[in-house]
Amino acid sequence: MTPISKLPNLETNIFTIMGNLAKKHNAINLAQGFPNFNSDQKLNDLVTKAMNSGYNQYAPMHGVLALRDAIAQKFEGLYQSTYNPENEIVITVGATQAIFTIITTFIHPLDEVILFKPAYDCYEPAIKLNGGKVIPIQLTYPGYEVDWNKVKNAITANTKMIVINTPQNPCGTVFSKEDMQQLELITNNTNIIVLSDEVYEHMVFDGLKHQSACLFPQLKERTFITASFGKTFHNTGWKIGYCCGPKELMKEFLKVHQFNVFCVNHPTQIALAEYINEPNNYEQLNLFYEDKRNTFLEAIKDSKFTFIPSKATYFQVLNYSGITQINDIDFAKKLTVEFGVASIPISVFNTNNLDEKVVRFCFAKKDETLQKSAEILNKLE
Ligand code: PMP
Ligand code: GLN
Repeated sequence: MTPISKLPNLETNIFTIMGNLAKKHNAINLAQGFPNFNSDQKLNDLVTKAMNSGYNQYAPMHGVLALRDAIAQKFEGLYQSTYNPENEIVITVGATQAIFTIITTFIHPLDEVILFKPAYDCYEPAIKLNGGKVIPIQLTYPGYEVDWNKVKNAITANTKMIVINTPQNPCGTVFSKEDMQQLELITNNTNIIVLSDEVYEHMVFDGLKHQSACLFPQLKERTFITASFGKTFHNTGWKIGYCCGPKELMKEFLKVHQFNVFCVNHPTQIALAEYINEPNNYEQLNLFYEDKRNTFLEAIKDSKFTFIPSKATYFQVLNYSGITQINDIDFAKKLTVEFGVASIPISVFNTNNLDEKVVRFCFAKKDETLQKSAEILNKLE
């Protein structure tokens, strides 16, 4: 059979490619973003307890109410922002499903969606599958700053959505308050929906503050925020996340959600509902990952790589142009196969695969893994 592909030009994603290469060559995997340490035993025990207490059948479609309540309280506590747990918060299969469902709910054929490159890889295929058109705005190394005039000029009568990701994967940058105000101004009095992917909200360093879209009242009215428990609680394999948005938009979202997944893993939701009520379980994450970033950067400070310390996320991009001029995909592969450390080449996230000789490393790893990787990276001349 020769199926007619809906995504004819799409290859296997870079996380799978680099992960497989790392496995094959027994390399340290700093490529895909996941911790190599366990989630809190307390949380794991709560999941077991929930299973043993019989929470093994379908969860409610919106998600377990106690968990939605806890999320609403978290928004109140952190951002003094109110979401109604009844109809403005939905539990999803990771942030990925929330993102896919949001795009599918609102993007019609030929609608335009503005996004910033380098961009995490799950937005674009979802837009294309729905017949939408991606309007990329390329940001450049090392600052990756947004020129909001460019954004303004990219808006047309067909613009239906703007996707932002702050803290940003893969760059490790954040949008400032001024960035968010610009976005609020530009989208005010339009029908543009904003998808604000905030999965790294608790990993912001050096005293900076996460500028959640919910802090900007007019922006909030048109915005879905997506979040991932996997990122926050060190269990990316559980694939639980959520999204929040104004009730009129959420009503439409739910029409798709109910036939996309209907509901999400039940015992995990019961456990998370109890676990997130203790703010200590996420409030220390900034310092935890700032420390990991510092450990990694201190250990490679004498290497030939150059960098600006990541401001957020658990990724650090390094420029290798002091070592070689080969393209970043070949460099990442060579580093994996010949030296034993896997990373992610940034060009795959860029418009026209722009190659700025930059690769991304995940520092959500045990300190000994970071030290071992640094010893290898320091040897590159
Ligand atoms: N958005 C960004 C920016 C990510 O890095 C990731 C990867 N975790 C996701 C969304 C998807 O999150 P999840 O694993 O919860 O689906
Ligand atoms: N979010 C993770 C990263 O950026 C990867 C998730 C995936 O493999 N799709 O590394």
